[in-house]
Amino acid sequence: MKGIVLGTAGHVDHGKTALVRALTGVETDRWAEERERGLTIDIGFAPLHVDADLEVGVVDVPGHEDFVKNMLVGSTGIDAVLLVVAADEGPMPQTREHLSIARLLGVRHGIVALNKVDRVEPEWRELARDATLEESGRILGHRDWPVVEVSTLTGEGLTELRAHILDLANELPARPEEDVFRMPVDRAFSVAGAGTVVTGTTWSGRVTTGDTVRLLPVDLRARVRSLQVHGSDRDSVGPGSRAALALVGVETSRATRGAVVVSGAAWRSHRRFGARIEVPPESPREIRHGQRVRVFLGTGEVMARVLTERRETVARGTVAWALVDCETPVVARTRDRFILRFYSPVVTIAGGQVAERDPPRAWRRRLESWRALLDGSPSGAIHAAVALAGPTGLAAENVPLASGVPAALAKKTLESSARLRRVRERWFDGDRASAESLESVRQTVGKRFSSELVDAVVTELAERGVVVVSGPGIRLPDHAPVLRPAEQDALESLRSVLESARLEPPPPAELAARVGVERDLLNDLLRLLVEQREIVAITPEIYVTRDAESEARRIVRTVAGHGSPASPAEFRAALTLTRKYLIPLLEHMDRNGVTRRTPQGRVAEDR
Ligand code: GDP
Ligand code: MG
Repeated sequence: MKGIVLGTAGHVDHGKTALVRALTGVETDRWAEERERGLTIDIGFAPLHVDADLEVGVVDVPGHEDFVKNMLVGSTGIDAVLLVVAADEGPMPQTREHLSIARLLGVRHGIVALNKVDRVEPEWRELARDATLEESGRILGHRDWPVVEVSTLTGEGLTELRAHILDLANELPARPEEDVFRMPVDRAFSVAGAGTVVTGTTWSGRVTTGDTVRLLPVDLRARVRSLQVHGSDRDSVGPGSRAALALVGVETSRATRGAVVVSGAAWRSHRRFGARIEVPPESPREIRHGQRVRVFLGTGEVMARVLTERRETVARGTVAWALVDCETPVVARTRDRFILRFYSPVVTIAGGQVAERDPPRAWRRRLESWRALLDGSPSGAIHAAVALAGPTGLAAENVPLASGVPAALAKKTLESSARLRRVRERWFDGDRASAESLESVRQTVGKRFSSELVDAVVTELAERGVVVVSGPGIRLPDHAPVLRPAEQDALESLRSVLESARLEPPPPAELAARVGVERDLLNDLLRLLVEQREIVAITPEIYVTRDAESEARRIVRTVAGHGSPASPAEFRAALTLTRKYLIPLLEHMDRNGVTRRTPQGRVAEDR
């Protein structure tokens, strides 16, 4: 069953709670104070039945400006917005603030309910509709959200609104099932017989009764005794649901709003994270370097300072890279969205997206990778995360958190990458790790021995097969990547094409086509064969088998070894090669000390 969560938004008194009641029959203003004042203070929840195969959870949020903080708790993790605008008032300040927050939180989908149409003349409906489209278009950057005229008083438009909600729910992509479990806690209380109960919107993954989970940042282990979705018992709950978990092993006082329930050992809390910050044009303030702010991530709120890339001020309508230095720990995953509000007075000033958790001091040098993490394809994000991990590699279980890519997709991507290598349970950037390892061998050993000696020893070790030198790097031979069956087939076919081509292999594009792989994979396979000493690079475009190269060496040596310098024509006759292949081959022989070029022709080097 597909689960989606819809969050209300809009100015106070525009009829959000009344609309939720009209759609679901549930009174979400639960507290005595809320009922007495006729005002939503905290978030409320209701299940909405629009279709048997759909589980739509509605989070009703307060519209009053004093409670935007609670609105943020309710809006985090939602799939779509139900924006309520009263036709008699039109868009008001919190209509705009909530829209801005929704966009900064990355919520792309929504429906506008133009409410209280019973109160206005038809021309007013038109005016209110136009004003709403105008304002929402300006803040969201599009006018894709349908506007439905409704009245919770007369019931007008409610059927149409339900139909729109159903369409939207069908249109929304389902959240991936196979991912790490996380649920930010929005309420915690104790229930006689059940112990501590926490509720929240499930952000990702699945949890099943009996599972062991952890509560962060306090880091307590707990067992899920039972769970419910909108008041009915379930065995398990997937992503995008409103869930209540009864936990064994956690005192209610430790489970507060802002805590996060997770499963898996990889989750941690962090005090610093790198992020891209956006101050929208409608923001009441800019962000100065070093600015103290409130960070709202998940259901938590922490104080932090924003350190910008060039110590610049982030002006309205601009974005910047920054380090968010928090005063207390937060639980974050790469690509998470968050909201920044001013320290005092508390107004919403910016949004952001987490790039890297706990970056090193020199974080400003990592921005290219951060860009790939936030804007790249899943594969680009994973490569960036592994590259950022550097010479110690990235633990396999950490990849989904450090890349923001759902676990199942991350696994598939890792296994199909010819560039990334797994050594036990850690992933390394093959090229970089070997380059850095040679550099560190040179630096460590080179302090005591001359660099010539180090190079000579490395060469000798490589010849004996103790290490493998690839490009500027060095590695142990058993670090060779494990190929998937499809890659193994491609490798076989590449071998056989190169064997029959001898000294005249097809150009790369044709080679890739004949082997049936993309150029990137072809390059990886070629590099692998070079490392395994099966083939030799004559130029970066021409690869021949080691056999063919040895035979060519023999012929070249014979032709050049007759006492007088040999001309290209003589080599050409002996090797029967076209010029296109002959000249690069002869230059390769010069470089490798087989021949020496003189003005009269090539002569064999003494062996
Ligand atoms: P919220 O602050 O957005 O949650 O607004 P409420 O749902 O608490 O509604 C505010 C007031 O507007 C209440 O007195 C409602 O009875 C009234 N109201 C809500 N919807 C309508 C409507 O469609 N027509 C009229 N006339 N009044 C409405
Ligand atoms: Mg309300």
